[in-house]
Amino acid sequence: MKSRITDLSLAQLEALASSYGEPAYRARQIFQWLYKALANSFDEMTDLPAGFRQALAAETVLLGLSPLDETATDDGRTVKMLFKLEDGKSIESVLMLVEGTRGDSRWNTVCVSSQVGCSICCPFCGTGQQGFERNLSPGEIVEQVLYFQRQLANHYYDNTLAGLTPPHVSHVVFMGMGEPLANYESVSQAIETLISKQGLGISARHITVSTAGLTPQIERLANERFHVELAVSIHAANNELRNRLVPINRTYPLEVLIPAVKEYFKKTGRRPTFEYTLLEGINDSPQQAGELASLLRGLKCHVNLIPTSPTLSKEFLPSSKEQALGFQSELTRCRISNTLRVSRGLAIRAACGQLHSRWQATS
Ligand code: SAH
Repeated sequence: MKSRITDLSLAQLEALASSYGEPAYRARQIFQWLYKALANSFDEMTDLPAGFRQALAAETVLLGLSPLDETATDDGRTVKMLFKLEDGKSIESVLMLVEGTRGDSRWNTVCVSSQVGCSICCPFCGTGQQGFERNLSPGEIVEQVLYFQRQLANHYYDNTLAGLTPPHVSHVVFMGMGEPLANYESVSQAIETLISKQGLGISARHITVSTAGLTPQIERLANERFHVELAVSIHAANNELRNRLVPINRTYPLEVLIPAVKEYFKKTGRRPTFEYTLLEGINDSPQQAGELASLLRGLKCHVNLIPTSPTLSKEFLPSSKEQALGFQSELTRCRISNTLRVSRGLAIRAACGQLHSRWQATS
């Protein structure tokens, strides 16, 4: 199979250029074409020698993701894209126009997948129910962002968004299909390209890696050159319940996970977020809110309460609004900073944990 050009870092592109007898600055030119000029083909890279362009086109792939199916919510503010990969497998990504709480700021967030399927198997998650197929390469992650970057630069969404949205991707969240920290090499290299000034130039503080709690990889991430935002899918404040909801807890229980998250904050200065999806009758009582507050006491963090999105499973249902508000007010009473989220993209099955489950259901 041909190699994928977006898989390569700037240094790797320099090595590629020199293997063709080209100077190192060719790598920077290619990076510019890929990530600033958003080129669709090697032919467009007119400041490269024609022979080099032809060799690149013959031996590497520039667009490895084929957009298959796009769905948008009625207000056009959430768009889900199904991509086919070169080996025929598929993944989904979501673009969200997000408005600041005071309505004075707007940004575009792309929610990317990091694996085809997922190995963590949280029973309430659509991707978890699908099982694990394979890791994505760095380029397959970067290309999801590039796709929306191109669409925004071409003002493709202007009709539905009424010109509301800035014409570029400003934020990236690793909250699509897969466990990003179980695909550490690809994810960290993709982040390097996303934040590179010669690449997409997205600020590291606008990139969020969400994890089910792979402790050694959280420790590794804390020591990276870049400091991204960390979100931890906590969902339960005791090991017994968390073993069931987030099975990786059996390997890295709370007494190991929480100190690693504390350390992440100490080393990076990034305040971690805890994701807590409210499951009716399972983890949504005021007592359980108190238990969560005790677990997080003394840790500078924020809790995102997420309404559970329906998947094929009938066992895990969303909490009622009253129950969610009761949980939230107990957290607030215990002085834990929190937000009760509104689910985005439910109607198009683009909400948390829903990615891919429709395709699984119909195939
Ligand atoms: N593997 C990573 C990324 C997963 S998706 C992680 O576990 O963090 C991002 C978030 O959506 C996670 O917090 C995940 O637990 C949550 N999620 C999964 N299924 C959900 C569902 N049906 N409803 C609401 N949130 C869900």
